[in-house]
Formats: sequence, C-alpha cells, structure tokens
Amino acid sequence: MGGVQEVFDALPGDTRGAQLLRRVLAGTPSGESPLTHAEIVPARDGRTTGWPDWVPEEVRAPLLARGVDRPWGHQAAAAAHAWAGEHVVVSTGTASGKSLAYQLPVLTRLHTDPRATALYLSPTKALGADQLRTVHDLRVEGVRAASYDGDTPIPERDWVRQHANWVFTNPDMLHRGVLPRHGRWTTFLRRLRYVVIDECHTYRGLFGSHVALLMRRLRRVCARYGAHPTFVLASATVSEPAVSASVLTGLDVAEVTEDGSPRGARAVALWEPPLLEEVTGENGAPVRRSAGAETARMLADLVLEGARSLAFVRSRRGAELTALGARRVLAEVDPSLARQVAAYRAGYLPEERRELEQALLTGALRGVATTNALELGVDIAGLDAVVVAGFPGTRASFWQQAGRAGRSGDDALVVLVARDDPLDTYLVHHPQAMLGAPLERCVLDPTNPYVLAPHLACAASEIPLTRDDVAALGGAAALSVVDDLVAEGLLRRRRGGWFWSHPTDRPHAGVDIRGSGGEQVVLVESETGRMLGTVDPGTAPATVHPGAVHLHQGESYVVDTLDLDEGLAHVHAEDPEWTTQARTVIDISVEETEQCAAHGELQVCLGSVEVTEQVVGYLRKLPSGRVLDQTPLDMPARSLRTRAVWYTLSESALLRAGLEPARWPGALHAAEHAAIGLLPLVATCDRWDIGGVSTALHPDTGHPTVFVHDGHPGGAGFADRAHEALREWLTATRAAISDCECPSGCPSCVQSPKCGNGNDPLDKAGAILVLDAVLGRLAED
Ligand SMILES: [Zn+2]
Ligand SMILES: [Zn+2]
Repeated sequence: MGGVQEVFDALPGDTRGAQLLRRVLAGTPSGESPLTHAEIVPARDGRTTGWPDWVPEEVRAPLLARGVDRPWGHQAAAAAHAWAGEHVVVSTGTASGKSLAYQLPVLTRLHTDPRATALYLSPTKALGADQLRTVHDLRVEGVRAASYDGDTPIPERDWVRQHANWVFTNPDMLHRGVLPRHGRWTTFLRRLRYVVIDECHTYRGLFGSHVALLMRRLRRVCARYGAHPTFVLASATVSEPAVSASVLTGLDVAEVTEDGSPRGARAVALWEPPLLEEVTGENGAPVRRSAGAETARMLADLVLEGARSLAFVRSRRGAELTALGARRVLAEVDPSLARQVAAYRAGYLPEERRELEQALLTGALRGVATTNALELGVDIAGLDAVVVAGFPGTRASFWQQAGRAGRSGDDALVVLVARDDPLDTYLVHHPQAMLGAPLERCVLDPTNPYVLAPHLACAASEIPLTRDDVAALGGAAALSVVDDLVAEGLLRRRRGGWFWSHPTDRPHAGVDIRGSGGEQVVLVESETGRMLGTVDPGTAPATVHPGAVHLHQGESYVVDTLDLDEGLAHVHAEDPEWTTQARTVIDISVEETEQCAAHGELQVCLGSVEVTEQVVGYLRKLPSGRVLDQTPLDMPARSLRTRAVWYTLSESALLRAGLEPARWPGALHAAEHAAIGLLPLVATCDRWDIGGVSTALHPDTGHPTVFVHDGHPGGAGFADRAHEALREWLTATRAAISDCECPSGCPSCVQSPKCGNGNDPLDKAGAILVLDAVLGRLAED
C-alpha cells in the first residue's frame, strides 16, 4: 500500500476534502488499509461566452435575475445547434447547467413565435416537476408551460392540450396518453418545434429500446401534421453520446461534450473494505466487511468533523441500517449528535423532501443515508462529503451522486466504498476507469423484434403504416415483424398499407414500456388482498418462488405461493435475517451465428441463442454470506430467445495454458461470472440484465465455451456491445480477478449472487489462465 500512502501524503493538507479524508482514515481500525487510491480532482475555472445575439432581452433578463450572468461554453454551443435546427445532445457533468442549453432556444422560440410549441420529456416525475418550476419562475412572456402526466386532473388536461405551448411529460404518458389520441393534439403537434429529452442516458437497455421506438412514433405522427421538431438531449457523461442519442431518436445528432462550467476541487478516494478473518461465506470463501457498515462508520466520523454528508446506499433497508449504525457510533460520543443523522427514502411527500433538504442545507441535519431516490430531481447540493456505498452500476449515476458534493465551488470529499462485486473491485484498483474518459456506452436496441412488434402495432393504430413507415420505424427487420402481426390477425394489409384490426380497442395499454411485455406476475399480500406490484414473468421463478425473500420498493416480503398460470404470487410482509438465492439448471443452444472471428485457437462469435432455465431450489443465506440451508423446488422450465456473445478455446490451447481438463469447468465458470460482473464497465447495464453459461464442451461449438447473453427476449444491445468492446471488457475482467487478494475466489471477484449453481465449481487461478489465453490470442491479431 506504499504507493497509496505516498499519494495520500501528497494531498494538499489545506483543502477541506483532504482534511475530511484524513479524519475518515484516522477512524480506520489499526492494521487495515482500505484506501486504494486518493487524488485531488483539481478545480476548473468556468468558461463563459457572450449571450447569443438571438436571445431577446425578455428571455435574458429573468435568467440574469436568477444569477445566470452569461452562458457557459457548452450551454451556448448546444443552444446554437438547437437554434439552427440541428439535433444536439449536450453531455457534461452533474450541475453543469445543461438545462440552459435547451431553455435558451425553447424560451426564445416560444416568446418570439406565438404559434410554436415544445415538448419536454423526463424519466421521472420529480425531475420534470423541478424543471417545470424553474421555467414557471422565469415568467417569460408568451410561455405557457404545464405538466401533462398521470397526476394531471382530467379537466386540466383539456386546458393543457388547447393552451399550453410547452408541455412537460414523460415517455409513459406520451405512449399511453398523447400518441393514441393524437387527433386531440393536432394543433399542438402541428406547431411542435422542439422536443427536449432530459437525462437521456437513463433510456438504456429494454426501456431505452422502447423509448427509441416511441420517439420514432412521435416523429411519424408529427410529420403527418407537417412538423419536424428539433431534438435537444441532455445526458450525463457517457462514451460517444451522439451515437446513443442517434439510436434513441433515429436522427443525426451533434454532440457537445466540453464542460465549460466551473467546479470546485474534490478529493476523490477509492476504498475497499478488508476481508474479515472471522467470517466465511459460500463454499468457505472469505467475506469483506460490508460497504454499508464501512459507510456507517465513515458517516459518523464526518458528522463528528462537522461535515454535511450524504451516503448513497443501494437498498432502503441498507440506507436505514447505515443511518442507524452511524447514530449508534455518535450516541456514544454525544447523544445530541445522533439526532443529526437520518435516513431518506423514495416515497416521501414533497413537503417532507423539502424539509429534509432544508435541514441538510442549514446544517440542522449533518448526515443523511439514502437510496438512489435522491439521485434525480432533488435539490441537494454543495455538501462537504458524499460517500457512495457500492458502485451504483453506471459511471453516470456515480457522478450524479458525487455531484452533490462541493457544487458551490468549495472543495469536498467523494468516497467510493467497494461492495463485494467484481466491478467494484476493478474500479477501486483502476482509478482511471472512474476518473478518466468514460468507457461505458449507453446501450439500447430498437431493432429487437420483441420490442418492435408492439410498437408497430401501436403505430398502425395511430396512423396506418406505409412501407416507408415500417422501414423508418424498424429498418429491414421490421417488415418480417409486420408480416407476423398480419398472421396473428393484429394488422390487416390493404391497399395503401397496414391497418390495425381492432379500431375500438387500442394496443397501447398492453405495452409496458418499462418492462418486458408479456403477462406480468402480480404480487398480492395474502392477509389484506392488497396488490403490491408486478414482477417480470421471465424472472418470477427465480425471484418470487415459494419461500423467496423478495424486496419490493424497499419493503421485505416472503413469498407463500406462486401460480405462474394465473400470474399470481401471494406474499406476506416479513423481514427475516436471511436472503434467498435461487438455484437453476441452465442450457443454451446456438440458433444462429451471425459473426464469428477465428484467432488461432480462439473463436469469438455473436448471434442469437435459446436459453432454457429451470429453477430447482433455493439457498437461504445470512448477510455474512453464511448459507443456512438448501430447499428443493419444482418449477417449470423457461426458455428465452435472445442475443449472445461467446468465445471458445480449443482443448489444446487450454492444456498449453497449464489447465488440465479437470479444472476446465471451474476456470470457465469463474471467467464467465467475472465477465458478467464487468460488462457494465463498457455498457450501461446491470449485471441482472444479462446472464451467462460456461461449459467444458458445448455441443453446438464443439469446444470449451463461455457465453454471455442478454437477459430479455430479443436482447437490448448488451451482447452486441460486449462483442464490440470485447478486448477492453475481458482485460478488465482479468484485472478484477487478479486484483482481489482473496486466495481462491470470493464475492468480490468470481462468486456471483445470481449463480444458479451455488458458485460451484469455481477456479479463480484457472480463470486468469483462461483469460490470458483469450487476450493473448486477441493481442496476436
Ligand atoms: Zn476475491
Ligand atoms: Zn454460476
């Protein structure tokens, strides 16, 4: 750890962030050295430009009054594109004022052209409400902004349709409420000049693929009314934002990525909790102290230091435990200090949220532990420290959370505490991946036929489809999807195109743009009959089997019965000390190999596969990782047609790598687990969005093979991105395994919480040999 110590000693002692880091480190039990990296991300001076000459005084004055003296460089650059009618995405850091990039052109247009209209889309209601409030407060003459979402009272909806010229809504409402009834929106849509897509990086994976088709439907309906609006998108920092924005909108989009806003210095620390000696987990593996426990202690130290601090924890229960842990430490020092720490969760009323924000801003409250609920649309910034307990899955989310610290130009501390996950292990040992240029691409796939089909049906019911429409909505793949819809009797082919067959019954309500489609399994609380929500039918056998502990919106339930035919799971509220993990038998067959590259004894392929999965039992595990017992289950097999990337190595290549055949299953299995864990480094996905299969001999390839596949029917672009970024991805995978100091595999490297085989067999050293063999062959070419 000498290198880290040097870096740490070199931190300027006079900055607040460095002081706080010293305090946190001083509280570390002796003998532990959890700090893997620390550096000062230097302050950046803002770069302003003059006001664009097309922005009139009536727009400029209220912005000036709100403290916007001049636009930052990126704001002006993006606004200029938008004003010129060029589609643009602005992708800069949190709190860099991306809103002004679209406010300038939209407000100016609405002010100067009384007939123009604009549409604003946000992924969450809270964010949309905040943005709407800002626009209201500016009181620009001629701008009539209003929200139109599920909460808008029916009488008000008429007013919005007829009079508002800037409508704030979300994709769900656009899909269900606006497009199916576009006839009522004729005037608004005919005059539509701008479509703003805020936080567009949240449209990823399956949800992103749905929204991409929704945008094509919107553009088609607008075109019918003669409107061709300009799209302005705002994104967190991701790799190649214009590529993703173009896939999302189906348009050529320019990108603005140079952040011209000022930023205070931040001390960024990467932290890896130590392996505990007294506890062992699955198959005797060592276990690290939990990120939540480590964070609780840090939060207490920060409060003692008088720092206003926010800790992000993955689950609501975790957030509550972290706040509780911090209070316990503080109470020993001074009971009044314990009252300065609280937990915050989704579902608070707006007044409660504002109260909490205020308390934190004034310093009445000093430490808050929260779930990701605070990530979007809540106005807390300028804190002294942010502790992120477990990488939140994407760099965009991490920086969004980190951005709560030091906004006002003061310097601050940001700490990432690794969870027991290979991606976290990689990140705390490879600071460049966090602090350098982003590798992660926002991935979505609007050509997925399972997503395409319902949107083609919706589109046909909105306006009959022409051949050109079909091509514009889904490219070459769409024509065969349309044929299928005709065969199913949903569309009818007539002269002039394809028509929806059921004029009185629209398809929109049956399309869940955030889910997977298909009949959802409904969760019902047995005692009260209350419907709690739904789960994806594909994952139900693994997540809501009888006996499963299921978290729903942060609350814990235990499942009593699951009836897959009825689509019904009965549960009761219970929060036992254990969690459950399903055991599955998985089979994969190659349906079509689309690409296959041979590198000597290595083959790398991409194509479509069929995955058959059967849940055969479950384990009960304590938070320490200890397994209590295993219960068999008899569940039907589920099959999934999706996309996969796979590689094969010849038997002789494995032998030459030093692996005798008995080690192959464990080595390939460990390499597969870690690769699944590291995919989010190059694609915006969760490891729960993907799956994998490894085998020492696969009948379709004839060789030892590792598959990584999309977890949803038809795929969401993850396997394709994995194939494209294979070398970076597997290089990081190899590093994550070798960086973990455990002797033979643990949850921080090759064990997986979703393994259907109980993490057995796993050969950590063997996985490194496999990956070296793969990367060696790739390097030769
Ligand atoms: Zn390990
Ligand atoms: Zn496994």
